[in-house]
Amino acid sequence: MHDCLFCRIVRGEIPAAKVYEDDEVLAFRDIQPQRPVHVLVIPKRHITSLAHATPEDTLVLGRMLAVANGIAVDQGSTDGFRSIINTGRVGGQEVMHVHMHIVGGPDPVGPMLKR
Ligand code: AMP
Ligand code: ZN
Repeated sequence: MHDCLFCRIVRGEIPAAKVYEDDEVLAFRDIQPQRPVHVLVIPKRHITSLAHATPEDTLVLGRMLAVANGIAVDQGSTDGFRSIINTGRVGGQEVMHVHMHIVGGPDPVGPMLKR
Protein backbone atom coordinates (compact mmCIF):
# COMPACT_ATOMS: atom_id res chain seq x y z
CA MET A 1 0.00 0.00 0.00
CA HIS A 2 1.33 3.38 -1.01
CA ASP A 3 0.98 6.53 1.00
CA CYS A 4 1.17 8.82 -2.02
CA LEU A 5 -1.43 11.49 -2.73
CA PHE A 6 -2.86 9.89 -5.85
CA CYS A 7 -3.01 6.40 -4.29
CA ARG A 8 -5.04 8.02 -1.52
CA ILE A 9 -7.39 9.51 -4.12
CA VAL A 10 -7.74 6.04 -5.71
CA ARG A 11 -8.67 4.62 -2.29
CA GLY A 12 -11.19 7.41 -1.69
CA GLU A 13 -9.30 8.78 1.31
CA ILE A 14 -8.97 12.19 -0.35
CA PRO A 15 -11.82 13.64 -2.41
CA ALA A 16 -11.39 14.31 -6.11
CA ALA A 17 -13.69 15.43 -8.92
CA LYS A 18 -13.68 12.13 -10.81
CA VAL A 19 -14.55 12.26 -14.49
CA TYR A 20 -13.66 8.74 -15.64
CA GLU A 21 -12.94 5.40 -14.03
CA ASP A 22 -12.40 1.83 -15.14
CA ASP A 23 -10.65 -1.20 -13.64
CA GLU A 24 -7.18 0.18 -14.19
CA VAL A 25 -7.40 3.91 -14.73
CA LEU A 26 -8.87 6.91 -12.88
CA ALA A 27 -9.26 10.47 -14.16
CA PHE A 28 -10.14 13.54 -12.11
CA ARG A 29 -9.99 17.31 -12.48
CA ASP A 30 -6.72 19.02 -11.64
CA ILE A 31 -7.13 21.04 -8.45
CA GLN A 32 -5.39 24.05 -10.07
CA PRO A 33 -6.62 24.01 -13.64
CA GLN A 34 -4.38 25.72 -16.19
CA ARG A 35 -7.01 25.65 -18.96
CA PRO A 36 -10.82 25.30 -19.10
CA VAL A 37 -10.26 21.55 -19.38
CA HIS A 38 -7.51 20.15 -17.15
CA VAL A 39 -7.80 16.53 -16.11
CA LEU A 40 -5.26 14.10 -14.68
CA VAL A 41 -5.32 10.49 -15.84
CA ILE A 42 -3.59 8.00 -13.55
CA PRO A 43 -3.07 4.27 -13.24
CA LYS A 44 -4.91 2.96 -10.17
CA ARG A 45 -1.88 0.85 -9.36
CA HIS A 46 1.07 2.90 -8.12
CA ILE A 47 3.78 3.63 -10.67
CA THR A 48 6.13 6.33 -9.43
CA SER A 49 7.01 7.89 -12.78
CA LEU A 50 7.83 6.99 -16.36
CA ALA A 51 11.40 6.62 -15.11
CA HIS A 52 10.11 3.68 -13.03
CA ALA A 53 7.91 2.08 -15.70
CA THR A 54 8.57 -1.54 -16.66
CA PRO A 55 7.27 -3.75 -19.48
CA GLU A 56 4.55 -4.92 -17.05
CA ASP A 57 3.14 -1.40 -17.13
CA THR A 58 2.66 -1.41 -20.90
CA LEU A 59 -1.06 -2.17 -20.88
CA VAL A 60 -2.08 0.38 -18.28
CA LEU A 61 0.10 3.11 -19.80
CA GLY A 62 -1.46 2.36 -23.18
CA ARG A 63 -4.92 2.53 -21.68
CA MET A 64 -4.22 6.01 -20.29
CA LEU A 65 -3.57 7.13 -23.87
CA ALA A 66 -6.50 5.20 -25.29
CA VAL A 67 -9.09 6.80 -22.98
CA ALA A 68 -7.73 10.34 -23.29
CA ASN A 69 -9.79 11.55 -26.23
CA GLY A 70 -13.08 10.35 -24.76
CA ILE A 71 -12.35 12.17 -21.50
CA ALA A 72 -11.31 15.33 -23.36
CA VAL A 73 -14.47 15.35 -25.47
CA ASP A 74 -16.68 14.64 -22.43
CA GLN A 75 -15.10 17.60 -20.64
CA GLY A 76 -15.67 19.96 -23.56
CA SER A 77 -12.39 19.79 -25.43
CA THR A 78 -14.09 18.59 -28.59
CA ASP A 79 -11.47 19.57 -31.13
CA GLY A 80 -8.27 18.19 -29.66
CA PHE A 81 -6.25 18.53 -26.49
CA ARG A 82 -2.69 18.33 -25.22
CA SER A 83 -1.44 15.40 -23.18
CA ILE A 84 1.57 15.93 -20.93
CA ILE A 85 3.46 13.56 -18.65
CA ASN A 86 6.11 15.22 -16.51
CA THR A 87 8.90 12.94 -15.32
CA GLY A 88 11.35 13.51 -12.48
CA ARG A 89 13.26 16.65 -11.58
CA VAL A 90 14.02 17.74 -15.13
CA GLY A 91 10.43 17.18 -16.22
CA GLY A 92 9.09 19.13 -13.24
CA GLN A 93 7.12 16.22 -11.76
CA GLU A 94 5.61 17.23 -8.43
CA VAL A 95 3.42 14.25 -7.58
CA MET A 96 5.34 10.98 -7.63
CA HIS A 97 2.60 8.80 -9.12
CA VAL A 98 2.48 8.74 -12.92
CA HIS A 99 -0.17 11.06 -14.27
CA MET A 100 -1.05 12.37 -17.68
CA HIS A 101 -2.37 15.91 -17.88
CA ILE A 102 -5.10 16.44 -20.45
CA VAL A 103 -5.37 20.16 -21.13
CA GLY A 104 -7.69 21.83 -23.56
CA GLY A 105 -10.93 23.65 -24.02
CA PRO A 106 -12.39 25.66 -26.86
CA ASP A 107 -9.16 27.45 -27.77
CA PRO A 108 -5.65 26.24 -28.74
CA VAL A 109 -3.46 25.78 -25.67
CA GLY A 110 -0.55 27.69 -27.20
CA PRO A 111 3.11 26.90 -27.81
CA MET A 112 4.29 23.63 -26.35
CA LEU A 113 7.20 25.05 -24.35
CA LYS A 114 7.76 28.59 -23.13
CA ARG A 115 11.30 29.69 -22.49
P1 AMP B 1 3.07 17.51 -12.00
O1 AMP B 1 3.84 18.78 -11.88
O2 AMP B 1 3.02 16.98 -13.39
O3 AMP B 1 3.51 16.47 -10.98
O4 AMP B 1 1.56 17.90 -11.70
C1 AMP B 1 0.92 17.63 -10.49
C2 AMP B 1 -0.48 18.18 -10.65
O5 AMP B 1 -1.29 17.64 -9.62
C3 AMP B 1 -0.59 19.71 -10.56
O6 AMP B 1 -1.16 20.22 -11.76
C4 AMP B 1 -1.49 19.93 -9.35
O7 AMP B 1 -2.36 21.02 -9.51
C5 AMP B 1 -2.25 18.61 -9.27
N1 AMP B 1 -2.76 18.25 -7.95
C6 AMP B 1 -2.09 18.27 -6.78
N2 AMP B 1 -2.88 17.84 -5.78
C7 AMP B 1 -4.08 17.53 -6.35
C8 AMP B 1 -5.32 17.03 -5.84
N3 AMP B 1 -5.49 16.76 -4.53
N4 AMP B 1 -6.34 16.86 -6.70
C9 AMP B 1 -6.18 17.14 -8.01
N5 AMP B 1 -5.04 17.60 -8.55
C10 AMP B 1 -4.00 17.79 -7.74
ZN1 ZN C 1 0.63 6.28 -5.76
